[in-house]
Amino acid sequence: MDIGVIGLGHMGSAIARNLLSAGHRLTLWNRSPEKARPLVDAGAALAEHPADAADGDFVITMLADDRAVDAVVRGDGGLLSSAGGAVHVSMSTIGTPFAARLARAHAEAGRRFVSAPVFGRPDIALSGGLFIAAAGPPADLAACQPLFEEIGRRVFIVGAAPETANLVKLCGNFMMLSAIEAMAEAMALAERGGVAPATLLDILTGTQFDAPVYRNYGAILVERRFRPAGFPAPLALKDMDLVDDAAGAARVPMPVLGILRDHLLTAIARDGEDVDCTAIAESVAAAAGMADEAGAPRSRNAPARLAAV
Ligand code: NAP
Repeated sequence: MDIGVIGLGHMGSAIARNLLSAGHRLTLWNRSPEKARPLVDAGAALAEHPADAADGDFVITMLADDRAVDAVVRGDGGLLSSAGGAVHVSMSTIGTPFAARLARAHAEAGRRFVSAPVFGRPDIALSGGLFIAAAGPPADLAACQPLFEEIGRRVFIVGAAPETANLVKLCGNFMMLSAIEAMAEAMALAERGGVAPATLLDILTGTQFDAPVYRNYGAILVERRFRPAGFPAPLALKDMDLVDDAAGAARVPMPVLGILRDHLLTAIARDGEDVDCTAIAESVAAAAGMADEAGAPRSRNAPARLAAV
C-alpha cells in the first residue's frame, strides 16, 4: 500500500515504523522535519507539504490535538488542497465537534474521511497491536480494512458518523483515568491501614479487577514510576477537556471529571510537562498526609498513622 503519515511524535513514528517494516511505501510529513530522519534512512520519502503525502491509498494523521489537525488539513499546503485521492484516516484523539466539522469539510471538498482513534501506547503501536475504534461511511471503512489490519490487533466499527469514534475514545480515556484515581485512593487507604499497595493490587487483580487497565496502571502506581511518561499528563488533560466539552454540549453531568482535571493540573504544575498521567496518585497521597519529603520515596508498607485509623 502507498501510505502517507502526518505527525511523527511518539505514536505516529511508531505506526510509521511498523508500516515500513511490513513493506509498505510511506510518505511522511512532520512539522519538525528532522524527526523523520530515522524513517527516511530506512526507506520512507519525506513530503514538503502535508498535501504531498496524500497521493497514495491512505493518509494517516496522528497529531497532538484539534489545532494541529486543523493546521495540516486546512492550512497552506494542507490535505484539502491535495490533488491526490487518499482516504484521510484521522487517528489523533480529537474533540467530537471538531471531528464532525472535519467530516463536513472533506465531504464538501469531495474527499474521503474516516475517524479511527486508537487505544494503546507507542510500544503497542510499534508491534501493530493497537485497538482501533473506527467510524465513517461504510464503503470508506471497508477500503481501510487492510490498513487497519496492519496497524491494529482489532478494529471496532462504531458507526457512519466519524465523530462517534472520537466519542468512544474520549469515554475510554475518561474511564481509564477514573480507574487510576480509584486505585490511587484505595491504595492510600490500604497503606494507611497497614496493607501494602502491592498486596492490595495482587488480590484485586486476581479477583474482581482482572483487566489490563488495573494490572498495568496499578503496577505503575505501586512502583511510583511516573517517568518516563507513557501517556503524558498534558495529553490526558487535553483529553479530559475534550470530555468536558462533549459532556457540556450533551448536558451530561460528570462530577468525577472535575477531580481528574484538578489532579492532572496539580501533577503538571508540581512535576512538569513530562510527567505521566498516573502522577495524579501523588495528589491523593498528599491529601492523605503521605507526601514525600524532598522527593524521597515513602515506604509503601509503613502504616504511618495506624493508631489513628
Ligand atoms: P506527541 O509525541 O506529542 O506528538 C505530537 C505530534 O503533533 C508531533 O508530530 C508534533 O509535531 C505534532 N504537532 C503538534 N502541534 C502541531 C501543530 N500546531 N501543527 C502541526 N503539527 C503539530 O503525541 P503522541 O503521543 O504521538 O500523540 C498523538 C495523538 O495520539 C494525540 O492526539 C494523543 O492524545 C493520541 N494518543 C496518544 C497515546 C500515547 O500513549 N502517547 C495513545 C493513544 C492516543 P512536532 O514533532 O513538530 O512537535
